[in-house]
Amino acid sequence: MTSATSLQSILDRAADGGRITPEEALTLYTDAPLHALGQAADTVRRRRYPDDVATYIIDRNINYTNVCVTACKFCAFYRSPKHSEGWTHPQEEILRRCGEAVELGATQIMLQGGHSPELGMEWYEQTFAAIKEHYPQLTLHSLGASEVVHIGRVSNLDHAAVISRLKAAGLDSFAGAGAEILVDRPRTAIAPLKEKGDVWLSVMETAHGLGLESTATFMMGTGETNAERIEHLRMIRDVQDRTGGFRSFIPWTYQPENNHLKGRTQATSLEYLRMVAVARLFFDNVNHLQGSWLTTGKDIGQLTLHFGADDLGSVMLEENVVSSAGAKHRSNRQELIDLIRGAGRVPAQRDTLYRHLVVHTDPADDPVDDRVHSHFSSTALKLLPVATAS
Ligand code: SF4
Repeated sequence: MTSATSLQSILDRAADGGRITPEEALTLYTDAPLHALGQAADTVRRRRYPDDVATYIIDRNINYTNVCVTACKFCAFYRSPKHSEGWTHPQEEILRRCGEAVELGATQIMLQGGHSPELGMEWYEQTFAAIKEHYPQLTLHSLGASEVVHIGRVSNLDHAAVISRLKAAGLDSFAGAGAEILVDRPRTAIAPLKEKGDVWLSVMETAHGLGLESTATFMMGTGETNAERIEHLRMIRDVQDRTGGFRSFIPWTYQPENNHLKGRTQATSLEYLRMVAVARLFFDNVNHLQGSWLTTGKDIGQLTLHFGADDLGSVMLEENVVSSAGAKHRSNRQELIDLIRGAGRVPAQRDTLYRHLVVHTDPADDPVDDRVHSHFSSTALKLLPVATAS
């Protein structure tokens, strides 16, 4: 057990912007008093964003196929090739969904899908080029390192070639998907067929070097130890020291329904809040920190804004992957604005680069469009016996 004095001295140094070691981060994660931890993280957040703005984005996750050969144990979304419930959206349907997203005010599309052996480099190039041709105003913040590895295998290309061709076809940045947990032992336990964590990081490093930035994510609660949680952060911070290409860190919690891993989610709300705070203190080299409302609920999402988060992510007009595994929370644009305002922050709609598009300073000027809600259209809704947001 670390003494209160030495805990406080680590907290003070971190709050002042000093770098903390992984060992110190673990000590804070396990032993620091919750309020002091949150206060230190909030001090860092205030220094970075003294205008007190907290952001959200309007985007749509278009899950273009559920066919996947990677068979992650935590995934409730995928179907094996030849499974009768497998599907791949034709390009017209993807374009129709993009058009609908534009009409609802979305600025970003996240194309995320399974690793289908039928989809190689050309399919992605054609799809991205078609979206950019029809909707040049949409930012394609899509795919991730796992897709790069998969496309490389299907089309017999190295990672740099895949990344360069995706960029040329219109990809603007990579989402941080597929990271889950990067540490070998727990990663192999939940996703034995996925690329190793060091490969995930190496693909991201290559992408950053080729001019495509990304986010980094963490899915907590699949059986990893506290030390492995911090090791995941360390692996990302080390790459960030070299590239500076991770725009934000996005932790969220594993959802245990309808998959092969099952089990009780092991990340409690308190563990999640502690992780958000420690991440803000540990990542002195990552600009943004996103709190999740989809997996932890709106109240915890709001609380993250007092534990170092400066962003509540997306309204999520569509999301099927996490929702298929049991994420039942639904929201809408006004709710996100109210959550941010209720936390004492100034809400702002942002774009993918975190530039403020609309700052909601006066509630009387809040946008009124009831259609801008999460899961506007999601196949996952069929799996979930819950009401949609109004
Ligand atoms: S998480 Fe992604 S890669 Fe893993 S099985 Fe699901 S769709 Fe496939």
